[in-house]
Amino acid sequence: MKYCHHCAAKLILRVPEGDDRPRYCCDACDRIFYQNPKNVVGTLPIYGDQVLLCRRAIQPRLGKWTLPAGYMENGESSLSGAIRETLEEAGARVSVQDDCLYTLFNLPSINQVYMFFRAELVDLDFTAGAESQAVALFSEPDIPWQEIAFPVVKSTLKYYFQDLPVRRFPVRMFDVHHGEDHTVTTRLISQSPIGVDQ
Ligand SMILES: [Zn+2]
Repeated sequence: MKYCHHCAAKLILRVPEGDDRPRYCCDACDRIFYQNPKNVVGTLPIYGDQVLLCRRAIQPRLGKWTLPAGYMENGESSLSGAIRETLEEAGARVSVQDDCLYTLFNLPSINQVYMFFRAELVDLDFTAGAESQAVALFSEPDIPWQEIAFPVVKSTLKYYFQDLPVRRFPVRMFDVHHGEDHTVTTRLISQSPIGVDQ
């Protein structure tokens, strides 16, 4: 961020009075521009014992498999955003239960929060959207674990197939840290005490 969105003056990065961290400040029109984390929302689309994955047609992680997810838009809820992304990226219509929130990931290193919701495919009429090369259903033994695009997706799938035999799906929250050597560490921070029968 270099120039003010309102008056186009050059911005200065400094700690405003009464604040405790640097912000982009415009001294010409006296505005402060706050930068906050973005929410990424998506679904874990389920059909029987299979899950739907999308092969990415865009960078980053072109050609790798992921769950349908994307940035929340203004004016929508996290769940409606997740359902919209599922339709856009996988052409898939889903229905959800009251207990659909499944995983939440804090990614402070890249200023993002991910949320995934468990969702049932309502039909098999899915098709790859503009950001996907392919969309396919996978049973656990067929999951391309070495070709999964993001650690948040890998963790969500890992816990899902761990929960599936007992059919209890507690909500879990994780902290994900990206090291300077490109290692990614995912730590389970919170887990709801009672899973819900499905
Ligand atoms: Zn300004």
